[in-house]
Amino acid sequence: MDHKTDCLVCGKELDYLFTPVQTNCFYCREKAETDVMCSGGHFVCDACHRLGAMDLIYRYCIRTSKHDPIVMATELMRSKKVAMHGPEHHFIVPAVLITAYYNTLGGITSISEKEKKLREALRRSEKVPGGFCGFYGACGAAIGTGIFISLVTGATPLARQEWMLSNMMTSRSLSCIAHSGGPRCCKRDTYIALVEAVAFIEENLNVKIEIDPVIHCCFHSLNRECLKSACPFYDEQV
Ligand SMILES: [Zn+2]
Ligand SMILES: [Zn+2]
Repeated sequence: MDHKTDCLVCGKELDYLFTPVQTNCFYCREKAETDVMCSGGHFVCDACHRLGAMDLIYRYCIRTSKHDPIVMATELMRSKKVAMHGPEHHFIVPAVLITAYYNTLGGITSISEKEKKLREALRRSEKVPGGFCGFYGACGAAIGTGIFISLVTGATPLARQEWMLSNMMTSRSLSCIAHSGGPRCCKRDTYIALVEAVAFIEENLNVKIEIDPVIHCCFHSLNRECLKSACPFYDEQV
């Protein structure tokens, strides 16, 4: 497969159309006229094409109106800009949670809050390097859930309730990730962190984020270390 010429979203071949069509960019939703599209109907604008993984995640989250963090994370992780394993997952987790949270709340204030907090989540998650899980004993996807709670509650090292909630969130997703066992899978850890965060948000912040509870991982064939049937998201049919 030629990764330089195929669709950035799904890897299918690109079709060159005889007549240009009006469509929206898959990532930023910007309207455009194009004569290049993949056989699955995806179009990616030039601006998104030029971005690295972190900026693409940011731009996608700013523009999307979606609510389900699993759907958003899967769409981002399918992009060829996002590696099978890598520190970009440390940003995906807080980014899709912030987006799901503020898109669910709705309203004008939420739009500006979403933007402000996405920017800060990017700044903070960039400080969590790849391999943090094994070398420091704290998976970056779990830290991402703590970054999210810290940002939406306005926690600081001196806050009481907010400080407690942020650390409880990280410990809950971290424990769940640790118990899922096995060596590296940024996809599994991301899904576990998101599922735990959605439950935690409902219990502690009283916001119900709609999420499809059945997750079928579509990345297992790309992961040499996949736990297969020992992973809760493994489905050999996918
Ligand atoms: Zn495609
Ligand atoms: Zn775009």
